[in-house]
Amino acid sequence: MKKILKRVAARTPAPEPVASGCEELAETPETDPAALTPGVCQECAKLGEDNWSHLRICLTCGHVGCCDSSPHQHATNHYRETGHPVMRSHEPGESWRWCYVHDLMD
Ligand SMILES: [Zn+2]
Ligand SMILES: [Zn+2]
Ligand SMILES: [Zn+2]
Repeated sequence: MKKILKRVAARTPAPEPVASGCEELAETPETDPAALTPGVCQECAKLGEDNWSHLRICLTCGHVGCCDSSPHQHATNHYRETGHPVMRSHEPGESWRWCYVHDLMD
């Protein structure tokens, strides 16, 4: 007599619950990508300008862009063009991250 074993369906691990409910910040690796243009907004540099206020680095690709207090807002522009959702402050002494999808800081 053959025993029929019931197979338990393979369980996919549930994603870690995040207090904020933001998967973008939760899924962004701890290690940041290297800045493509360290200390310089990539697009402002192309325009020959350096009048940005603060710099932000994209944690998907390492793109460095200027913040929303800057004339060109290239960091937000980069998110609109690429959909890369998380950036980190590229300012000395600052390490906070920002999710554009949820307008959330951590
Ligand atoms: Zn998010
Ligand atoms: Zn810029
Ligand atoms: Zn990017």
